[in-house]
Amino acid sequence: MVTAAEIRQRFLEYFARQGHEIVKSSPLVPKDDPSLLFTNAGMVQFKKVFLGQDKRNYVRATTSQKCLRVGGKHNDLENVGRTARHHTFFEMLGNFSFGDYFKREAVDFAWRFLTEELGLPKDRLYASVYREDDEAYELWKEIAGLPDERIYRLGEKDNFWSMGDTGPCGPCSEILIDQGSHMSCGPECEIGVCECDRFLEIWNLVFMQFDRDASGTMTPLPQPSIDTGMGLERIAAVCQGVYSNFDTDLFSGLIRTTAERAGVVYGKDEEINTALRVIGDHSRAVAFMLADGILPSNEGRGYVLRRLIRRAFRFGRLIGLRDPFLFDVCSQVVSEMGDDYPELHETAAFMVKVVRQEEERFGTTLDKGLALLEEELESLQGAGQTQVPGGVAFKLYDTFGFPIDIVNDVAEARGFTVDEAGFQEHMQAQKERSKAAWSGSGATDMAARFVALLEAGVQSDFVGYETLQSTSRIA
Ligand code: ATP
Ligand code: MG
Ligand code: MG
Ligand code: MG
Repeated sequence: MVTAAEIRQRFLEYFARQGHEIVKSSPLVPKDDPSLLFTNAGMVQFKKVFLGQDKRNYVRATTSQKCLRVGGKHNDLENVGRTARHHTFFEMLGNFSFGDYFKREAVDFAWRFLTEELGLPKDRLYASVYREDDEAYELWKEIAGLPDERIYRLGEKDNFWSMGDTGPCGPCSEILIDQGSHMSCGPECEIGVCECDRFLEIWNLVFMQFDRDASGTMTPLPQPSIDTGMGLERIAAVCQGVYSNFDTDLFSGLIRTTAERAGVVYGKDEEINTALRVIGDHSRAVAFMLADGILPSNEGRGYVLRRLIRRAFRFGRLIGLRDPFLFDVCSQVVSEMGDDYPELHETAAFMVKVVRQEEERFGTTLDKGLALLEEELESLQGAGQTQVPGGVAFKLYDTFGFPIDIVNDVAEARGFTVDEAGFQEHMQAQKERSKAAWSGSGATDMAARFVALLEAGVQSDFVGYETLQSTSRIA
């Protein structure tokens, strides 16, 4: 069996042979880019190069990029554990051309990597292109020999990419693999129509071709570029002959240890399966976030981290784990992936302490909060209602530290929805109350500034374990 680590290596080496510079993954916190919560694609570290604002001494690059899709514009949190292909944290393999090669080579490299290097069966591969992109359509016919019925023309939503409302943009083209009719979601199952796992999207090739201005006019770029992304977990599943990313070697060890610890079996009961997958997924995200200097807190990136820890902890409770356990799973992530990502080893001891402390803290209020939520659900049910009011979600947040995700998870499993808009209103009102309280007393002005400074420091700089530990106690 080819391991995920081998696939990563083969990808980078293949593109190195085609003249690409192997560039290290950038951290999960984008540098100098407050507009972005987390690095969510391989191109993020090259944004300025694509815009012509930064020059490198290479025009072709290849990376395996750490990505997070949670809490920002791309948010896959709700999908995790429910689809076989989505994670919060994943690795994106990519090749990039900065004004060098364009569509023809991009299609050719990708096709040859999949079919020659990895030996995927040609007759199960499909491509999608942007509706108007005849050029890409023809290339798939010519280079890959794909017949018309295996090339789909799709619209903006699936096959047009842009960095923002203005700036570089262009059509993209995706490569999908048919996993077989047993994976089909029903008679509607088709590329571009359903979202199921039968036609698995493995690779997205973005053709950066235009510059869009504020009025929406698109002018061709003088030097069109290439940006591609393929999820390592997905291609590993395909190469390892399994239908879920969670059955690859990237997850199987994490899931096995957690299942053994809880005394449950993976693969028998859907509720237990989801819990084990979520824990496997979140343990990786948590380990990599801490390794990149993010600390649990009540806002911004730190709150996303805290939410993931608490959500994983609640899923642990669901399978009977009562004591802190996630810290141990994180330490397994370190031993399994630390050789490829040394920052994991470097922060391991500290990481384990922080996660354990977070679990212990939340452990003291989780039961009380769950009991309250249970009571609420029962009385709602009695009253024939199906929506948890925003005020209840807020109380769970405010008194018991429940992130909204947990309320959603529990409510949904019982057939309820949650009034999230109402919850947000309560949050906003609380923010305004505390702002008013600060500005009312002049003496706290210094304290407020001190807290702001501390928070800024914690968010942006890794200032050593001593400082991190003491600030994490204050937060
Ligand atoms: P999907 O349609 O399956 O949600 P996407 O179109 O949002 O994927 P892209 O933004 O095109 O994904 O990202 C490029 C590649 O990264 C995808 O083709 C896929 O292989 C991988 N990928 C995207 N999102 C995830 C995720 N949440 N977890 C794991 N891999 C992902
Ligand atoms: Mg997506
Ligand atoms: Mg897609
Ligand atoms: Mg895509």
